[in-house]
Order: sequence, then C-alpha cells, then structure tokens
Amino acid sequence: MSVLTDLIYGGSNAVAGLTEGAVNDAIAKHGADTKVAFPDTAYFLPTIYAATGVKVKTLGDLPACVGVLKSLISNKEDLGEALNAGLATAVGAEILEALKYVESENPYENEAGIGFVPDPIIRSLGVPLVTGDIPGVAVVLGKADQTEDVVKVVKDYQSKGIMTFLVGGVIDQCIEGGVKMGLELRVIPLGHEVTAVTHVVTVAIRAALIFGALEPGNLPALLAYTKDRVPAFVNTFGEIDSVVVSAGAGAIALGFPVVVDVDLGENQVPGALESVTDHTMTVKKSLELRNIKIKVTELPIPVAFAAAFEGEIIRRSDMHTEFSSHANPTCELVCTTPADEVEDHKITVVGQDIDAGGELALATIVKVAGEKMQADFESVIERKIHAWFNYMEGVMHTGQRNLIRIRVSNAAYEAGLRLNHFGEVLYNMIMDEFDSVVDKCEVTFYTEADKVQEILDTKAMPTYNARDDRLASLTDESVDEFYTCILCQSFAPSHCCVVTPERLGLCGAVSWLDAKATKELTPTGPCQPIKKIGCTDERTGAYTEVNKVVEQATQGAVNQVTLYSLIEDPMTSCGCFECICGVEPASNGVVVVNREYKGMTPTGMTFGELASMTGGGVQTPGFMGHGRHFIASKKFISAEGGIQRIVWMPKELKDDVADRLNKTAKELYGIDNFTDMICDETIACDTEEVLNFLTEKGHPALTMDPIM
Ligand code: SF4
Repeated sequence: MSVLTDLIYGGSNAVAGLTEGAVNDAIAKHGADTKVAFPDTAYFLPTIYAATGVKVKTLGDLPACVGVLKSLISNKEDLGEALNAGLATAVGAEILEALKYVESENPYENEAGIGFVPDPIIRSLGVPLVTGDIPGVAVVLGKADQTEDVVKVVKDYQSKGIMTFLVGGVIDQCIEGGVKMGLELRVIPLGHEVTAVTHVVTVAIRAALIFGALEPGNLPALLAYTKDRVPAFVNTFGEIDSVVVSAGAGAIALGFPVVVDVDLGENQVPGALESVTDHTMTVKKSLELRNIKIKVTELPIPVAFAAAFEGEIIRRSDMHTEFSSHANPTCELVCTTPADEVEDHKITVVGQDIDAGGELALATIVKVAGEKMQADFESVIERKIHAWFNYMEGVMHTGQRNLIRIRVSNAAYEAGLRLNHFGEVLYNMIMDEFDSVVDKCEVTFYTEADKVQEILDTKAMPTYNARDDRLASLTDESVDEFYTCILCQSFAPSHCCVVTPERLGLCGAVSWLDAKATKELTPTGPCQPIKKIGCTDERTGAYTEVNKVVEQATQGAVNQVTLYSLIEDPMTSCGCFECICGVEPASNGVVVVNREYKGMTPTGMTFGELASMTGGGVQTPGFMGHGRHFIASKKFISAEGGIQRIVWMPKELKDDVADRLNKTAKELYGIDNFTDMICDETIACDTEEVLNFLTEKGHPALTMDPIM
C-alpha cells in the first residue's frame, strides 16, 4: 500500500473506532432516546443527511450511521476508495462534534472557535458568493512552525475577500498575530480539535441542500455540487498526522484541493493534494488550484482596501474622527452633471480635513457625467458609497443619504488616511464599476457645518425627495419592462428572480432600478429585460412573456411563474432570501419570518425549517422566499388577498416594516394601524393562542375566502 493510502486508511480507521466508542458511551450515559442535533439547522446532521437521506434525531440513530461510516472504509489500495474513506472521516468528525452538543448546549462557549455554523449564516452568504464579493472559501488547519507564516497567509486571504475558516492551533497563532476575526471580517475560527473541520464541511454540504435543492441521499450529486459550485480549498500548516490526512482525503472527495506545507514528495496528487513549502506561494497556488481569480483593486490610499473590512467596528475609544448626522449635518449625493461642468478626477476638500479629529460635518458631493448616465442610476451609485468607505481598513460607515455615521480610527489616521483618499476611493471605484455609464467624475467634500447645512437644504433634500416621488410613482403598471436576475444560478441553477418595480429580488439587494442599471452596465449580464406583454391573468400576475423568458433563463427547469401568487406557480426561491412567507392554515393567513429570527413560529417550524421547504430554484406552493421590502408592497401575495393575509411576524420584523405596512393597509383596505392586528412571538406562538388574539383583534384573514 502507498504511504498516502496507508495514512488515509490509518486516520479513517482511527476516527471510526473513536466514533463508535463515543457513540456507545453517549448512549450508555444518556440513553438512546436522547436528542442529538446541531443548533439552528433544518438539516439534522448535515453530512449524514445529505449523503444518505437519514435524519438523525436521537443517539439511537447513530449506531447505524457508524455502520455506514465503516462501510466506506474498504482498506483497498486504490486512491478513489481511499478518498471514500476520507468521507468516512468527515462523517465520524460530524458525529463526534454532534455529541459535544449532547453534553452541552453550547460546547464552544469557552473556546476561541464558534463550532457549528447555523443555517441563517449560510443563507446570508449566498449573495456575496454569487456576486464574487466572496471569491472563495479557505480552510486553514493545523499549527504553523512559524506564527508569521500563517498570519501572512490569512491576512492575504482577508485582503482578497476570501472567507477563511480556521481549525487548530492556527487560531491562537492568528490571534497572536493580530488578525481581525469574525464573520463580518471573513476570518472565522471554528475550533481547536481537528473534528471542528466538520463545521466548514457542513457549510459546503448545506449550500448544496439550501441553494442546489439537492435530493438528500444522492451522494454523487452532492459531490458534483460541492466540486463544481463551492469554491473551497484547504491549507494545512505543520506536521500532518493520519487523521489530518484522512480529513484532507474527505475534502478532496468533495472537490476541494489540499495544499500542505510539508514535502509529500511522490505522494502528491496533482491538482488535488500538493506541497507548497514556500509560504509566500501558498495563496497563489491555492487560488490557482481552485481557479479563483481575484480582481485586484490597487488604490492610492495608505490603508488596506478589501470587502473583508466591511464589517469592521470602530469603537469610540479607537476613534479619531466622526462624521455623524446625530451631531452635525451630513449628506452624500451623486448628481448627474453636464460634462463641461465636471473636471475628471478632481478631488477637493472645502473646510478642514480630519487632522484635528473629533466631530465634523460632512457633505460628500459626487458629480458624474456620461452620455449613457441616467438620473435613475444616481441612487444606485450613491448606495455603493457605504460599501466602498467600509472597505477601507479603519473606516466604519453606516447609513445613507442625510443620515450617516462615518468613523475613522486612530490607526487609519496615523497611517496617513485623509479625506482626499476617500475621494480617491470614490473616483476609482465609480470609474471601475460604472465605467459603461460614467465618463467623468469629480468629488468634493465640505466639512463646515453651515455650508453642509446649506447644501443639505438647497440641494440634497430636494433631490432625495424628488427621487422618492419618482420611486413611489414606479409601479408594475407604469413600466413596460420587468427584469430577470439570474446571479444566484451559480449556486441555484434553476432559479430566476423576476424583478418588478413593486417586487424586488428575494435577497433584498436588487430593486427594479438596480436591475435596470445592471443591464445598462453589463448588457449580457444577469439582468435581462422582460417585455411586459402577454398578460393571461392580472390577479396572479401571469404573463406568457415572463414564462418564456424564465424558461430560457432556467434552461427549461421552470416554465410557469406568477408574480403575485403564493399558491399558483409562485416564484422560485434560491436560498438567500431575507424572509419566507408560509401558509398558516389554522388562521387562514400567512406567517412572514425573517432570517434573523431564531425562535418558533405558529406553523410549528422555525425559519430554517420553513426555508428548507423551498429553495434551489424549486417552486413550493404555499412557501415563498422574498425580500423584506416586498412585505409592504401592494403586490405582496395580492392573488391571495394581499397583506391582509399576514397573521404573524417576529416582532423585530413587524416593527421594522410597520410604517410602510400600515400605510399600504390604509390605502388598500382603509385599516388603521394594521400591524396591531398581527401577532408576534411576544404575544403568542401557539396556534390556538394566535387564533384567539386574531379573533380578539378582528383580523381580516379570519373571514376571507379559504387560502388553499
Ligand atoms: S435578485 Fe434574485 S437572483 Fe439576483 S442576487 Fe438577488 S436573489 Fe439572487
């Protein structure tokens, strides 16, 4: 037997023995009926569920899984067979980690790692992955001989926007090396034991279930999905033992190449298992092996610029300067300007720069000119300011328009960051991302409070108000075209959003104006126009042209879709939806639940369980993913009677949409304060109690025609 297969089988057999013993011990200690589950997932023990279709719920379900695990270890001298043994290690690791959750509700409480990654986080990663904002997923495992080697590699991935999961001693080394960590910063410590690697394996596997609508039990389809659609790879640091090698074999079976920093000599498997002993080459080699191309944005600024810094929090104690609408007037405005009034790449600061620190007013005025520039694109560009400023290391930006807060850290100031660099960021990013509509761009910052107030009163607010009027006048009836969005097809091949003025994409990130701008910016891109012709049913929003374009866009997978119905040919869902709407039969209405809500709903299902009913481009009558903003739309499930069907929402969501939802209810049905009639978890989750509440409030859903 070769050294490699010998190592793989050695590790797999060791993990199998360990798992069997641990399962037996757990049953002896807790009893076979004791529940076993990871937190906040609808996919049981995801690896076992996806690979075999078995829904593990109790400890008593596990011995059979150990049997399956052992059957994967053939001990035959064949690399393919050995990789299967690697999958056995993945299954064993999953069981061992699940048993930790039997012993304790939060076994990672006192760990630097986070352990299991809940479903909502995976759903939230859908859009950044499909847009390439997160270009890949790295798993960094082991303990480096030299701390600085792994720190440099992880920081390099972070600067490239790669989502990096850490397992083992590398976690402490990265902490020691000052790597900023957290989900928002795209460096996630999972745990110190090698079995914690299962928590990233299940992320890839649940991506297949959530976005790919994979049939549980179809192992070949699972392996094809993770190989083709999950851009992950593994780096190991330090000496590798047989368990690490067998875990690596499992990664290779899933299609994830492994780069080790020890010399494996002839045991390397080109393209799948390679040695890179020079750490300056680790990142380059890893990205090449997974064919990940990074778009490098070199900017003339003194701090790092990367999407990974978007979630960075600047605390008051670390803050050098703050521009906040709570303390001073502020605004951000992009305005289309005649070309002869724009001096390209001119950046001006009127008033004091940030040298003195403290609180300042700020008006950021961006003049753009271009033959194809349209006023409708101004807000699309303007909303990007938030992300671009946040990408600067040491800068935090929240809000938009006249309600913003920008903080600059002491470290960024000391590195030399000044307002003209903010201008360089805006200029370079606009000319890069919007080059097909913007020919010239000029940026001016004003920091004197009186001047900013004047700009706010005479220019910014009137412009925002005019835009709001335009948006309010945009209805599905007032336009000639809708748009497709198929960005999510890289994960959900048969999904297509139909974006209309009154129905934004289900991720909440693509409005009709965004889709229109995307078409202009990338003519052959994901957003293509759909002529609004061939209406066959106004009630459900059925159009022959929509069906035709969706059928083409989904390669025949979906050929009938309505715009306004939850029951009749509802729109497909990919998996990254902000909210899910589901029928609640007892009250003849629907519940609407947001991704962030962790509790139970009156349907007897959590968000995750409701969400697992649909996704991956599947149409499931009675369940539909959608954006938050859509909830207050007059078109929201209008075929079933509209928003008056909403009987229950989590309180946070209800409060968030209350103003707009109440306005719509008043306009449509003459109901005042409609949200007071909607139940939430602080009132009741039990079906009967919900019904009592609705009856007491005289909720309209109770007397409407049966929803199904
Ligand atoms: S609009 Fe739809 S397809 Fe486009 S990114 Fe959002 S969820 Fe994905």
